[in-house]
Amino acid sequence: MKFSELGLEPSILTALEEAGYEEPTSVQAEAIPAALAGKDLLVSAQTGSGKTAAFLLPALTKMAKRSDVKSIGPRVLVLTPTRELAQQVEKNALEYGKHLRWLRTVCLVGGAPFGFQIRAISRPVDLMVATPGRLMDHMRSGRVDFSRLEMLVLDEADRMLDMGFIDDIETIVAATPETRQTVLFSATLDGTVGQLARRLTRDPQRIEI
Ligand code: AMP
Repeated sequence: MKFSELGLEPSILTALEEAGYEEPTSVQAEAIPAALAGKDLLVSAQTGSGKTAAFLLPALTKMAKRSDVKSIGPRVLVLTPTRELAQQVEKNALEYGKHLRWLRTVCLVGGAPFGFQIRAISRPVDLMVATPGRLMDHMRSGRVDFSRLEMLVLDEADRMLDMGFIDDIETIVAATPETRQTVLFSATLDGTVGQLARRLTRDPQRIEI
């Protein structure tokens, strides 16, 4: 399998080549075409499997097409359990999207000053990466508009539940359009995370690596 067979935006393929990526990992080979086809996905994959690119590459490819919705809100929202993971996801997005000149990202995490984040979300943004607690803080003040949201990614969903973010996740998801595509990544899809996954997704494709 080659990256060029997956349906990705050409300038993203260039960025992958420059990053030295030769071929997709198994989770990428399975998840990318399904995500580009618009499917909801439940993916069990561990850190190190290449899961971040498995959701970022289709997300960036979709954002390369113009949105019809007039709003400054994000088109893709990635929720992660920790600040470090959120920052890593944003960094990877900027690397894979380095030839997409229009790409605007914002990272909303705890432990960082509010002022910078508030200024960032008062301007148009394409990709928002956030931890649930800090995103909730911004939502409570009415500063986040999800009317343009096309894709919601829950990264390491099992860890977010272990950290007690279930109520925040439910509130955030309820604020997003029902027409969204939902992609959930988790080490396990059993128990509570499986129940959450079934509630949030519609006819999902299951991918187990
Ligand atoms: P992740 O599982 O998303 O944390 O990714 C683990 C590491 O693998 C990261 O450092 C990525 O930059 C790298 N990586 C992801 N996909 C590929 C690929 N197809 N080829 C080479 N390296 C990759």
